Amino acid sequence: MSPTPTPVQTHCPYCALQCGMSLTAARPAVPGGVPVVVGGREFPTNRGGLCQKGWTSAGVLAAPDRLTTPLLRGADGELRTASWDEALSVVARGLARIAVESGPEAVAVFGGGGLTNEKAYTLGKFARTVLRTPNIDYNGRFCMASAAAGMNRAFGVDRGLPFPLTDLGGAQAVLLLGSNLAETMPPSVRHLAGARAAGGLVVVDPRRSTTAQLADGGQGVHLAPVPGTDLAVLLGLLHVVLAEGLADTEYLETRTTGAEAVRRSVAAWWPERAAAVCGVPADDLRRTARLLAAASGRHGGAGAYILTGRGVEQSTQGTATVTAAINLALALGLPGRPGSGFGAVTGQGNGQGGREHGQKADQLPGYRMITDPSARAHVAAVWGVEEETIPGPGLPAVALLDALGRDGGPRALLVHGSNVVVSAPNADRVVERLRALDLLVVCDVVPSETARMADVVLPVTQWAEEEGTMTSLEGRVIRRRRAVDAPGEVRSELWVWAELARRLGSGVELATDPEQVFDELARASAGGPADYSGLSHGRLDAAESRGDGLYWPCPDGEGAPHPGTPRMFLDGFPTPDGRARMTAVDHGGPSDDVREDAPTYLVTGRVLQHYQTGAQTHRVPELEDAQPEPFVEVHPLLALRVGLEDGETVRLTTSRGTALARARWTTDIRPDTVFMPFHWAGEGSVNRLTTDAVDPTSKMPEFKVCAVRLEPAVPT
Ligand code: SF4
Repeated sequence: MSPTPTPVQTHCPYCALQCGMSLTAARPAVPGGVPVVVGGREFPTNRGGLCQKGWTSAGVLAAPDRLTTPLLRGADGELRTASWDEALSVVARGLARIAVESGPEAVAVFGGGGLTNEKAYTLGKFARTVLRTPNIDYNGRFCMASAAAGMNRAFGVDRGLPFPLTDLGGAQAVLLLGSNLAETMPPSVRHLAGARAAGGLVVVDPRRSTTAQLADGGQGVHLAPVPGTDLAVLLGLLHVVLAEGLADTEYLETRTTGAEAVRRSVAAWWPERAAAVCGVPADDLRRTARLLAAASGRHGGAGAYILTGRGVEQSTQGTATVTAAINLALALGLPGRPGSGFGAVTGQGNGQGGREHGQKADQLPGYRMITDPSARAHVAAVWGVEEETIPGPGLPAVALLDALGRDGGPRALLVHGSNVVVSAPNADRVVERLRALDLLVVCDVVPSETARMADVVLPVTQWAEEEGTMTSLEGRVIRRRRAVDAPGEVRSELWVWAELARRLGSGVELATDPEQVFDELARASAGGPADYSGLSHGRLDAAESRGDGLYWPCPDGEGAPHPGTPRMFLDGFPTPDGRARMTAVDHGGPSDDVREDAPTYLVTGRVLQHYQTGAQTHRVPELEDAQPEPFVEVHPLLALRVGLEDGETVRLTTSRGTALARARWTTDIRPDTVFMPFHWAGEGSVNRLTTDAVDPTSKMPEFKVCAVRLEPAVPT
């Protein structure tokens, strides 16, 4: 009889909650058999709980169309199997030719927020030292850039939640702006129980989402603003706090700068004016402001938190909206006070770590600006290259995708852990730009829509097949562990990049062992805002075995190991004067507002069963059965106005494209707004409709609001 398989402790492959789980190999081992998943009882954020995606996550390992060999596009236009040697030769020759003909910047790299820390770090190093291109960015530009810009400006650092998620449990009030936690991260809802019991959960969402429903029934407040007006909601709330003497004046005087300018900027945003813009009743704004103030420590409450999500950040006003939310939190004296705080709820699995280690267009490892001379010198020394050879900032994601194949733009693109054909805004334009490339190389696990367009497809390892680390939404660095062998000829991207570096004759050594990469990453991060230099795989293993974790910043301390920093800002902010910076902002409105030919707002988001572009979840039968097709939520009043039956196929049109989906009547949405999830490709792809207008500061696109026209789809 074969020995009983040992459970491997690891974490879910999907979202930034990174729920703890164990994987136990099938017994007896069956080829293609999937391991058994059990929720990790010791992991504090989920305590054994998993959502439907987590419970079924092993199904991703058994995807029927899993890529197992490299693919090359032949002369007949079809993808055919190839050896690694043949495929990498084609890639290396193509990259070298394009770089010689058009310069190194003609090769671009697009990364992903699902890559491990080790891969995110190595990808940035590969791009800047082997390819020597400035043009590297990643899909986190689509999801966390505005929160990062707002937090960096105010606090001098961006860690999504600067406190453990479990701290929320003791709060008397939580203001949740643009986040549907109950569907996107169900195990996190337990941490809202205290606020709900105190009647202090406030959810801001144009839909009465699953999370907004938690705030009903005396357990809180649901504010349903006109899409694109969240900033006006926040300006109205801050006006009430200041006008009614609810602000923490001592905190403002001792821990912030810029308060007076902010006070002047909201003076005219009395609740009735804000209500006229955002559609939220003025009395609800007053009630919310008083509820938050009563919960704050200054008024003897048990604590209050303000949290933002993509609903308010994916906007051309995203950085300003996050800034307004931070201003409100600072006025109430929340950040850095135990039991209170401000945070942004990161979405992607390694959305936090993904933005710290150098795959952003403007940043180096340790979350340092690429234009900072001391950061460049430090990283160059770790990389063993001359500082001058590290390129400057490259094009941010939307501009990079738009430049592909144009005169002077990139002619080759390497895509890692991203499916831009479905995830990028104005998706038809992205397809057009990808077609204009001379060389498209995609590393992926399954034949995603982007992989199917590639000239070369390289099959790579996924979560349970590899070792590494991820960083959760709370800045907790966790271990990802290998539980099963990768199938066929699948290899790690770490090996792919090292092999390409060798074939390109760069002379730069890229480590392929994840532990060795982590040690180098930790050295490269030393002294930066996201300092990992006191961390190692061994320390993380030991901490997790105690049911504990380690949070950055965790510098390499003299003597006793640094304990990490679960709670930030307790003694001040990492700004030159130790104070948080308040910045005045004003409401402008969305870039693509409703008008006669597009009279309805379109908002996008996620559903419980699917994740991002669905490349993983569409391949899990339980999830696909539960949510098999795209849909559009439509209020019956709107449906009657446009002549749309419940269940009928609706055609949605914007100035960028059209999409088709089945109408779902619901009264849980504003009558001027429709909602469509973004998990589908083809004619059901909502990103064929969304605008690629970007926030001027963060360069994050405005996924969350655009103007659309609805009509019943006429069968052709
Ligand atoms: Fe996985 Fe996120 Fe669900 Fe937890 S909440 S099981 S991390 S998808």
